[in-house]
Amino acid sequence: MGTLYKNLKDTRGQSIDILIEGDTIKKVSPLIKGNYREYTFDGDTYVSPGWIDCHTHACDFYPPYSSDIDEIGWRKGVTTLIDAGSVGILDIDRYYEEVKKYKTNVFSLVNISEIGLKELDELKDMGRVKRKPVEDACRRYPEFIVGLKVRVSASIVGENGVSPLIEAIEWNKGIGKKLMVHVGSAPPRIGEVLEAADENTIITHCMNGKSNNLLTEKALLREAIARGVKLDVGHGSASFSWEIAEKYREKGLRPHTISTDIYNVNMKKGPVYDLATTMNKFLKLGYNLEEVISMVTKNPAKYFGLVGRGELAQGTKGELTLFKIREGSKKLRDSHGKEKELKGYIEPVGVVMGEKYLSLED
Ligand SMILES: [Zn+2]
Repeated sequence: MGTLYKNLKDTRGQSIDILIEGDTIKKVSPLIKGNYREYTFDGDTYVSPGWIDCHTHACDFYPPYSSDIDEIGWRKGVTTLIDAGSVGILDIDRYYEEVKKYKTNVFSLVNISEIGLKELDELKDMGRVKRKPVEDACRRYPEFIVGLKVRVSASIVGENGVSPLIEAIEWNKGIGKKLMVHVGSAPPRIGEVLEAADENTIITHCMNGKSNNLLTEKALLREAIARGVKLDVGHGSASFSWEIAEKYREKGLRPHTISTDIYNVNMKKGPVYDLATTMNKFLKLGYNLEEVISMVTKNPAKYFGLVGRGELAQGTKGELTLFKIREGSKKLRDSHGKEKELKGYIEPVGVVMGEKYLSLED
């Protein structure tokens, strides 16, 4: 049998039909014919692989950095969320069970501090940073845990500076997954972070406008990128600056992944709202639609090892995001309150999860 999603448009504007059977894409091609259950669209609806937001707080254990998974997930056009360190090993088993209740896919970057974000200075006491239980958890959940998260900025690490990051990089050599590092105010100085980062490190909040931002060490930043270090946006309440983002363009630098650092408060009150809003900021900066979509599909899937996700091809996951390019204008505010206006913006209208179409329009 199977379900056919007809008369869609890919990011290059080509007309396309997609056939899904169970949870797998069977065919991607113009004008598929056959005896299938059909959803026919208006020819003006774009389709991409299901969006992946690789820095979120997809967990309701520890307010304020908490949220309802489906509310920040498929209801915002995002089929896959990566939780970035909300949870440490003390709660990872409970979290693994919890995420099964939701339609949205969830993966975890486990916090190297055993308490996760239960307290917001989780790395002040290195007694909370225990190697063996983290390694065991990574073995116990080889797919669910896609890597480690370490937050190194002044209020979190206290006197410990860059040492939690050095520690995490060392562990991760044995674990062989990804390591997302949050940066902010010093200590540690951004130069120390850039020097320590290895090819499995992804630096999030890469466009923050704090005085310790990445562009203050451009030579070290370029060296890190050349070594394979990746940059993630992680917009958040305090970590996206129009000014810094524009400087990236001027210097020929770019992030590899677009993500939100979304949780309840910055979803409801902004400036984050949802992944599409952050994507729209990159359209405004001059990135084209294909580039923006890659940064929420192909790139995060590749860097975090989400096999079968991030591309539209036979045999990959039947997870799609459908969206429109609206003609009107939208005001887009950064973390410093600076506003820009974009004409022609992305708005998700539905997601496909296997043979189910979930509309966002009614
Ligand atoms: Zn975060």
